[in-house]
Amino acid sequence: MNIPEPVKRILKALEEHGHEAHCVGGCVRDSLLGREPGDWDVATSALPEETMALFSGRAAPTGLRHGTVTVREGGLSVEVTTFRTDGKYTDRRRPDTVAFTRSLRDDLSRRDFTVNAMGMDLRGTLTDPFGGREDLRNKLLRCVGLPEERFQEDALRILRGLRLAAVLDFSVEEETARALRACRKLLCDVAAERIQIELTKLLCGPAAAEVLREFPEVAGTVVPELLPMVGFDQHSRYHCYDVWEHTLHALSEVPAEPILRWAVLLHDVAKPRCYTRDERGGHFYGHPTVSAEMTDAILRRLKFDNATREAVVTLVLWHDREIPRTEKSIRRALRKLGAERLRQLTEVKRADNLGQAPAYRARLKDVEQIQRMMEDLLARDECVSLRQLAVNGQDMLALGLRGSEIGAALEELLSAVVDGDLPNQRSALLHAAEGRADRQKETKHQNF
Ligand code: ATP
Ligand code: MG
Repeated sequence: MNIPEPVKRILKALEEHGHEAHCVGGCVRDSLLGREPGDWDVATSALPEETMALFSGRAAPTGLRHGTVTVREGGLSVEVTTFRTDGKYTDRRRPDTVAFTRSLRDDLSRRDFTVNAMGMDLRGTLTDPFGGREDLRNKLLRCVGLPEERFQEDALRILRGLRLAAVLDFSVEEETARALRACRKLLCDVAAERIQIELTKLLCGPAAAEVLREFPEVAGTVVPELLPMVGFDQHSRYHCYDVWEHTLHALSEVPAEPILRWAVLLHDVAKPRCYTRDERGGHFYGHPTVSAEMTDAILRRLKFDNATREAVVTLVLWHDREIPRTEKSIRRALRKLGAERLRQLTEVKRADNLGQAPAYRARLKDVEQIQRMMEDLLARDECVSLRQLAVNGQDMLALGLRGSEIGAALEELLSAVVDGDLPNQRSALLHAAEGRADRQKETKHQNF
């Protein structure tokens, strides 16, 4: 394992002062897997004030109550935490008390999963009291201790478990899986922000679809709207899967970006509500609009920021809209959505298509053609926004337009350019706008 030099210097300094010091948790797990750890955490027998004194000037007491000191070393910020055990959990979130201990093993035993409960010291010696190494080899996620007890202490671990399984592409050990399901209702007490963070990481994991397929009832505890999708037969020749299976297939096809994954997860969420059936089969009239409304409600409940929520809602609303493969209609879509959102929409459409019955996947070519035409238009810097229009508000003012007339005139000119009825040339646009200004003067005179 390659511990970075700055982290090694921290471990070394602690050892030289007679303390024990080990890298612990996610960084040990990730580096044994050959993955780049997100951050390096150190656990030590030194008390927080001893760590503070040892690294004085470069240490900040970031979580003293939990024994955490952040040490800056060689451009890295490393959290150095005193070995501790957690007291009772009465609120199922935070231990009531934490107690410092001189034993690494005690510290490791409070951690959630065996693969997260290993320590490694300066010389690369592994401390692995719960068989984490073996579970890593077998790609197994297993609780440290009794799964039900551990989930009752802290229900967030239920989602952390699914998230880690999705991100690492691990299976969940049987007892742990049973307890995940049995304890799922405890998630109702977990803060929405925490759920949002874990669910988003889960959705962006390479095995997200597999995990959701195996644990729909757990996902359905935090987003109950998902449950009616499971097993919902579409009675449609376009679909060889039920709504949930279609969603999971589409999910694996879309790039692993939060906005795209959320949009695909929720694009058909209203299908069960919108279902009707006639002699031709099942229909879901209006489902994008209702799905968009439900998406908005779900993402608000999970406390998403406005920008993410609005982006996802737009993609859900548009996912089923036909975009004719003409430059004019693509320019119109670019004007309405902007380049970033339209690019995302084509990714959602592509994935949606790949989740349908094989015979209908031929429409994939249409989506790819739209993608090519869009990139062409963008590369040519064709005018699709007011910013790109060859005239501006000043020009309209000079023509005698005032107030809201200015904006209206610019929008009208932009429409004409986007539709190909006017070239984006200053003289042509000014000429067209003059006509509008004259007409407006006339109507004003008539009013007098
Ligand atoms: P990531 O890759 O997201 O950083 P991580 O496993 O490192 O994953 P952190 O939140 O950084 O997650 O936590 C660091 C370590 O602390 C974990 O590896 C685990 O040992 C322990 N831990 C974190 N959250 C919990 C929890 N809710 N219950 C028990 N142990 C936890
Ligand atoms: Mg971490």
